[in-house]
Amino acid sequence: MRIIRDVAAVRAAVDGAGRVGLVPTMGAFHEGHLSLIRAARESCDLVVVWLFVNPTQFNEASDLANYPRDEERDAALAAECGTDILFAPPVDQVYPAGFATTVSVSGIADVLEGAHRPGHFTGVATVVAKMLNMVGSDVAYFGAKDAQQVAVVRRMVADLDIPVTIDVLPIVREPDGLAMSSRNVRLSADERRRAAALHRGLAAARDAAAAGEQDAGILASIVADELERESITAEYVAVLDPETFEPVASVERPTLIALAARVGPVRLVDNMEVTP
Ligand code: AMP
Repeated sequence: MRIIRDVAAVRAAVDGAGRVGLVPTMGAFHEGHLSLIRAARESCDLVVVWLFVNPTQFNEASDLANYPRDEERDAALAAECGTDILFAPPVDQVYPAGFATTVSVSGIADVLEGAHRPGHFTGVATVVAKMLNMVGSDVAYFGAKDAQQVAVVRRMVADLDIPVTIDVLPIVREPDGLAMSSRNVRLSADERRRAAALHRGLAAARDAAAAGEQDAGILASIVADELERESITAEYVAVLDPETFEPVASVERPTLIALAARVGPVRLVDNMEVTP
């Protein structure tokens, strides 16, 4: 595995390499990230892992300052999973002096995470557009954990005619159901235990929907009640169309329940598809 830090070198390495898979990450790898790298390895000739803690997608200075970073460990894990190139550019390579262009997706990026984290999706869409242009991959791999990010990226790729296929992989969870996240390491032991309520709530709503409950308000309150039991107040629990992210009142077809909640100092997101 090569570690590359500049665009010219990554373009040279990708040139003529066959089917190129790109796995965008901010590092601090866990099994969620590694599942994306393995999927890329299975179906691509060249696997590029992008490792960049993108400052423009953080809307809280303390979240950026406390974001876990360990490039040496990440490089070892990426290599083990078959990565060919770890592309880890410095901030001034991605945002050189004079940088003035942003990509902003309207509608889908304005609700939920977009509403609670001003500027977040403009940061995401801009860096993903740049990364896709820099690497020119055939496929880019994303996790279903960030469902709204997937919807925003798909919209942007379609709207800007970016020639890439977006592949989405399922959420990888801890044994108690908590979705793996780089931020989980910042939870205390007690917070870590309580955080399992996010998944319990979603699973309870999924079971209720499967048993015939269609009312979105009732399903959302099933999730919120489970959180309340651990004294967790959700920032939002939303019942949505998985493509448009428009709220739905009744579950008539596969529907997404998405939530965000703070547990101690950490803001966590999770989601689950429910079917009637
Ligand atoms: P991040 O480093 O948090 O920006 O995440 C990089 C990619 O890994 C994104 O596409 C995430 O959706 C994905 N990802 C993060 N956590 C998980 C998880 N628990 N399961 C599957 N994919 C994940």
